[in-house]
Amino acid sequence: MLIKEDFEIKNLTTFKIGGRVKKLYLPENLEEFTKLLRDLDDYIILGSCSDVLFSSNGYNGNVILTTEMKNFDIKGTKIIADCGVKDPLASQKAGEASLGGFEFLIGLPGTLGGAVYMNAGAHGQCIADVLTLCCLFDKENKEIVFKTKEEMDFSYRHSILHEGRFILLSAEFDLKKLPQEDIKGLMDRNLNFRKTVQPSLKEPNAGSVFKNPENDSAGRLLDKAGVKSFDMPNVKVWEKHANFIVNKGNASSEDVLELMVKMYQAVKDTYTIELKPEIIFIGNKTEKEEELCNILYKTKTQK
Ligand SMILES: Cc1cc2nc3c(=O)[nH]c(=O)nc-3n(C[C@H](O)[C@H](O)[C@H](O)COP(=O)(O)OP(=O)(O)OC[C@H]3O[C@@H](n4cnc5c(N)ncnc54)[C@H](O)[C@@H]3O)c2cc1C
Repeated sequence: MLIKEDFEIKNLTTFKIGGRVKKLYLPENLEEFTKLLRDLDDYIILGSCSDVLFSSNGYNGNVILTTEMKNFDIKGTKIIADCGVKDPLASQKAGEASLGGFEFLIGLPGTLGGAVYMNAGAHGQCIADVLTLCCLFDKENKEIVFKTKEEMDFSYRHSILHEGRFILLSAEFDLKKLPQEDIKGLMDRNLNFRKTVQPSLKEPNAGSVFKNPENDSAGRLLDKAGVKSFDMPNVKVWEKHANFIVNKGNASSEDVLELMVKMYQAVKDTYTIELKPEIIFIGNKTEKEEELCNILYKTKTQK
């Protein structure tokens, strides 16, 4: 397994932000992964780093990246896949097998592990719609356990994985037999739609900044609160959709947090609604970042 020491993680993240991590592990199969999970006392698990703001001050500990674990098996309408399988690849492979239900994953730049963690969703579909069973590592008892979809506590951008006790090793999905042309049509429609409402990764970003509040859209509230004009030296709100922050090239995690607080404050002042971040902050914080995170996250961030 590849292990990198004192590794700068920035270029592995879609935000192109992040400092040095003490040790980065890239297990190539579930055996190597579970051995690491048993052997190491403390670690952060990451997939494609497309939903995270990694601290520019880095992380003085172990990071395990799942992206080298790529097993993907199809049996009838069932798919069993490793947590490191990339979302668009899963979507494509399912489509080639005439299996519908993964069309929404075509434009998500993450892994299935991250998608299960977040109960990722788009275009009216989400992970919880198609997932049947998870194979998990239980950190508390250091053993492998299985949980059904009902036991995964899925809700909007939430799963039991947020509690921090379980790590996803692999997952089973049950999809629907559909004509390939229909699946391809949906995937093309999804990709075309995304071009109009999301920045491409050429403009480094980490997807939606804030979650939608109940029965409303964070993008709509942010837009009405006037944040599209927020443009700082290193970061800006994307001009075509108010719920995206773009790294203009040299942004630090602190720059992003500062802009997030401005956006949060604008909506709070206009609507008295306190938006909750979708982007997850990871790593060591400066004193200033601690203050900004306290405003945004209220509860404890991951590390
Ligand atoms: C341009 C763009 C568009 C996006 N559009 C969407 C969208 O439409 N819908 C949507 O839901 N999301 C969207 N996202 C966010 C993101 O791509 C997805 O949520 C994705 O599934 C996250 O996967 P990841 O591998 O990048 O997770 P990471 O960012 O690497 O990790 C996210 C979280 O998941 C945890 N995690 C990762 N793997 C595991 C595992 N195996 N076990 C336990 N925990 C794990 C991490 O610890 C972390 O807390 C978008 C992002 C971008 C940049």
